[in-house]
Amino acid sequence: MKKLEQLYEGKAKKVFQTDDPACLIVEYKDDATAFNGQKKGTILGKGAINNRMTNLLMQMLEHRGVPTHFVQELNERETVVKKVTIVPLEVIVRNLSAGHFAQNYGVEEGIVFEEPTIEFSYKNDDLGDPLINSYHAKALKLATQAEIDTIVRLAFQINEALKEFFLAVGITLVDFKLEFGRLEDGTIVLADEISPDTCRLWDKETGEKLDKDRFRRDLGNVEGAYQEVMKRLTGSQP
Ligand code: C5P
Repeated sequence: MKKLEQLYEGKAKKVFQTDDPACLIVEYKDDATAFNGQKKGTILGKGAINNRMTNLLMQMLEHRGVPTHFVQELNERETVVKKVTIVPLEVIVRNLSAGHFAQNYGVEEGIVFEEPTIEFSYKNDDLGDPLINSYHAKALKLATQAEIDTIVRLAFQINEALKEFFLAVGITLVDFKLEFGRLEDGTIVLADEISPDTCRLWDKETGEKLDKDRFRRDLGNVEGAYQEVMKRLTGSQP
């Protein structure tokens, strides 16, 4: 497959056209941003880890019946994915209180919920990705009710699979963000990435943060935390 012109450069990835109109190539970068781009930095080796981890998790999810955009890993940083139109919703699932949930609702971090929560943000950097509900999403024509129903069902199914997968390597899946896309025929598939950039992952025994909060909160050893998650998932360094 030929890598053609760059279509888009985001905060953590570049996307390229290919000679197959149904496929794109995603290239993962080491750049890190937080707080809607206000904090910028580099996490050495992050691109390679996030590429490998996303692909590993997407393949695991496909085996469990979740449709994803994954096609083929090309190398350390590049992956072929199906071309989709991204549904402009950030879908956030939470198992424990942390981050904006703790902040917005005035509770401490680490409260274990009896059942997971789900929320949507409108993916719009200019507006700072505001929280919206499904009625707002329909009013803004971001998604149909049928698409929202599919997204919610898949998000909870993904949560169960990921929770179990991480728990097996001693990691608590606190919360995470998903993005979904539409294939040309309208099928909703999981897109974007699943990585320590997009998940809160805490060591099950010590509660140590093994995710991007180390970068957001200047906790140090950011690279080490990303490597540790990868090592536990694969049994080796990336
Ligand atoms: O900040 P907040 O608590 O809402 O984040 C919830 C989860 O979604 C965290 O795991 C965070 O890493 C992820 N997230 C993300 N991209 C965003 C917002 C949140 O990956 N733009």
